[in-house]
Amino acid sequence: VPGLYIVATPIGNLGDLSARAAHVLSHADVIAVEDSRVTAGLLRHIGTKRPMTPYHDHNADAVRPGLIARMGSEVVALVSDAGTPLISDPGYKLVRDARAAGHAVVTVPGPCAAVAALTLAGLPTDRFLFVGFLPSKQHARAEAIAEIAGIRATLVLYESGPRLSACLSALAEGLGDREAGVAREITKKFEECVTGRLSVLATRYADTPPKGEIVVIVGPPDAPPPASADDGDAALTEALARLP
Ligand code: SAM
Repeated sequence: VPGLYIVATPIGNLGDLSARAAHVLSHADVIAVEDSRVTAGLLRHIGTKRPMTPYHDHNADAVRPGLIARMGSEVVALVSDAGTPLISDPGYKLVRDARAAGHAVVTVPGPCAAVAALTLAGLPTDRFLFVGFLPSKQHARAEAIAEIAGIRATLVLYESGPRLSACLSALAEGLGDREAGVAREITKKFEECVTGRLSVLATRYADTPPKGEIVVIVGPPDAPPPASADDGDAALTEALARLP
């Protein structure tokens, strides 16, 4: 069926590409991509070769009308370099204009670093706010943090290794020293999720900025600390001691 297909792709582990995503990509008339080298690798992995066209922040306004026109009779797929398109990635205007033109818009959901990190951190997930990347300049960042300080929800942020420690300190200052988690290299070889108070995490990463891709999760104002392995052991010991 012609239209726009929003296709999520792996955030590290190629095994996370869904069968449906592979099917849509291998049948697309054109795939709108952020970086054709990255998507070429993915297409090689699934053993297909489809035409690609660049769609990124710098050319989106110019190429969007052409893509919209094609959706009437062709399968146009949108991917980003990793994860779910539109999530801190280009695409929402393409969806907006596709809908306005009356074309079918179909989602092929899959990996998203924000959601994956939420599942790792052991912090409340009933209400969360996706913050994306904070501004990198100190003043603008402090302002952005002040804006969300009153929100009673877990916060999800994308950040880079070199800026992580400064970002965690700014969060501690603006939000209070909340429980948080740093999820790194999710689905990759060195996946880890380190949890603790914001100030403790800021200190931990101050001297050695972590390598790789990072999601920061910050608990709501009143979140209890995630149970540590020690707590579990203590509870078990106590329970065993009470056995007849
Ligand atoms: N659209 C993507 C998604 O659905 O997650 C996000 C794109 S955004 C431009 C890239 C940022 O996502 C990275 O800087 C990092 O903060 C986060 N990210 C992407 N892959 C990740 C991974 N495997 N582990 C941790 N964070 C990741």
